[in-house]
Amino acid sequence: MKVATKKELFDCLSGMKVFAPVGKNLRFAEVSSADEIASPESIPLSPKEAFVPQDETLFFYDNPEDPTSIVEPEIDEKPFVVWGMHPCDAKAMELIGKVYTEGSYTDGYFVRRYNASVKVVIGCPVPHPGCFCGSFEGMGPFSKSGSDIFLIPLDDERFLVEGTTEKGENLIASLPDATDEDIAKGEAQKKKGEDAIDRSVPTENIENSMQALFDSEEFWEDIYHRCMGCGMCTYVCPSCYCFDIQDERIGNKYRRYRVWDSCQFGLFTLEASGHNPRPTQKERIRQRMMHKLSFFKLRYGDEHLCVGCGRCVAICPVGIDIRDVAKRAEALAK
Ligand code: SF4
Ligand code: SF4
Repeated sequence: MKVATKKELFDCLSGMKVFAPVGKNLRFAEVSSADEIASPESIPLSPKEAFVPQDETLFFYDNPEDPTSIVEPEIDEKPFVVWGMHPCDAKAMELIGKVYTEGSYTDGYFVRRYNASVKVVIGCPVPHPGCFCGSFEGMGPFSKSGSDIFLIPLDDERFLVEGTTEKGENLIASLPDATDEDIAKGEAQKKKGEDAIDRSVPTENIENSMQALFDSEEFWEDIYHRCMGCGMCTYVCPSCYCFDIQDERIGNKYRRYRVWDSCQFGLFTLEASGHNPRPTQKERIRQRMMHKLSFFKLRYGDEHLCVGCGRCVAICPVGIDIRDVAKRAEALAK
């Protein structure tokens, strides 16, 4: 275990681009000094953009009739750092990785970026009131899953620093070892976060409880009557990964690109025939809740697609709360 100030750790990572929460933490951005990085307690928008950009060029082409005119964009595969991810965010990137590497459909754009990244994850001694990561098995405010370097804030200046992968260990090798006093302080910080995190959301059997309610008008009506379909919950969610593919003309050339999309939009499932299998907000918000709390686990076997970051709860303009959905489902299942 090592110990470092923000600046000392930043110096270990020199030579690489560093993305971190800045300013009022509206998004992760490239920083050139440790001073620009916002405090670890803050809850910025998810760092998903560093791995799955909102707008990403898939390829360029000169002639829509001629597939040989396709030119792939250059992808920067140099190592880069994503600093200040929360444990929930690091887990979310692992979950997206499951989808993007499933079977023969490996998404090279994501995989190259994910493999090139150094994920610096900060544990949460003071979890945000809306966070409930501890409600999911194996997760919590000090979960190291998906990290390369794991930090425990000791005070305003210093962190306990642990390399959790070989890549991470090599990068921090020059830092001084932590003292017994530092380690004890780190344990106390950890206990503070573990004691504070919300573990009250029932998730153990939620996938089956939700399945049983799929057709329940009574269960869904309160939610879908309120939901406005704004899509904000999906845009702030670290584990939402759906995108749309479009083409645009730039002078005499064309670009095919993908952009984040949302299952809360009516056009998301509109088929070329005009048929829409999710024609109203009832089917759309149900899809989101079912995907997060049921479908993903039933498909991939061991984990839910929600990581309990609480961002959708905080941002929803009409107060739709995934924690309440889980609690109501579980209560009805009993
Ligand atoms: S943020 Fe709230 S209102 Fe908007 S789509 Fe999501 S659940 Fe519906
Ligand atoms: S569904 Fe909500 S609480 Fe769960 S990971 Fe997404 S934004 Fe966070």
